[in-house]
Amino acid sequence: MTSPDLREKWSAARVRAAHQAPYLATALLSLDPVMVTGTSGELRRFPTDPGWHVYVGIEELARQSVQEVAFWLVHQVTHLLRAHARRYPGGVLEPQREEQHTWNLATDAEINDDLPPDLPPEPATPARLGLPDGWTAEQYWHALRENQPYPPIAPGDCGSGCDGLPRAWDHDLPPAISPTTARLTALDTARRIRERLNAQDDVPAGWRRWADQLLEPSVNWRHHLSAKVRHGLTQAAGRVDYTYRRPSRRAAALPGVVLPSLRQALPSVTVLIDTSGSITETMLARALAEVTGVLGAVGIGRRLLTVITCDARAYRPQTLTRISDLHLDGGGGTDLRAGFAAALATRPPPDLIVAITDGRTPWPHHPPRTRVIVALLDPAGRAPEWAETVRVGGAS
Ligand SMILES: [Zn+2]
Repeated sequence: MTSPDLREKWSAARVRAAHQAPYLATALLSLDPVMVTGTSGELRRFPTDPGWHVYVGIEELARQSVQEVAFWLVHQVTHLLRAHARRYPGGVLEPQREEQHTWNLATDAEINDDLPPDLPPEPATPARLGLPDGWTAEQYWHALRENQPYPPIAPGDCGSGCDGLPRAWDHDLPPAISPTTARLTALDTARRIRERLNAQDDVPAGWRRWADQLLEPSVNWRHHLSAKVRHGLTQAAGRVDYTYRRPSRRAAALPGVVLPSLRQALPSVTVLIDTSGSITETMLARALAEVTGVLGAVGIGRRLLTVITCDARAYRPQTLTRISDLHLDGGGGTDLRAGFAAALATRPPPDLIVAITDGRTPWPHHPPRTRVIVALLDPAGRAPEWAETVRVGGAS
């Protein structure tokens, strides 16, 4: 166990980090320290894991100054907020140390492109790599791989929080914060950055770009939504197919005879539309057009597509010939649970539910047996963890 002195040092470092970057205060408080003894220099960067644990080597905590520890806390929480583990472009099945090292340098360069020059000599900066400021980690990664060998930089390891690949010191712990909370923490951090900018406070340019990107994503949501819906359909179809391939128990008694329990070749889909007053019709129309476009392209015709509109209650299920035939009943308060209940009450229940909503609704407490994709129209809205979520927004 740690001495009171070391615990105090840890707290002091966290306070100092929050003082240096006040917009990171919530994120810093979400870090869950795991004290580790008996490691050599491996933990000198206070590495994290994707579940927001920070591995605190007792020897490192004793050796480094409060200022140094604070530097690493800001650094590591930045890896987590910017989802570097999820963005890792290298191989995950046969991890290559070289790839991990290159990604570590690339993400460090993204983090350090606007830090004061007096930072510790270890982490990579664009200048130390001979590359321009202001790039994304992916851009640094490609440049480094094309221009090898790059300038020698002392190898250091920011942990699985940087690339998602397990480390020897990682503990098998439940995440300190859920992926949803992590996402909300990132949005909250981005909003704090915006507030400070509005108040003419100084925020590093890298954080400004990050907040802009997070709050007004220019990524193509149509592409994401289309990919998720296609994947959901494949999964649903695969599940049906699986029941066909698995021999039924009676088949053992009837060798050579296949007894499928196949219900249908194509999955059926219910689109659940939140028609509460808070939804803007333009966004709704765009999301709906996208969903029906994907469904049409894979051959889900009107017979297999049901639309249920829902505000505080669910309206009569509609099967549509044309999208223009849709009646957008509703306009009151929101309770999508009524819509889920109505969707699951149809016989047979749908194989896939696509819910289009701003997320300002209560959600069913338990995941339905049917796969659910949420097209979220408001970046601050909430979707449950059991659903696949696509944030629909921006001009793209
Ligand atoms: Zn790093």
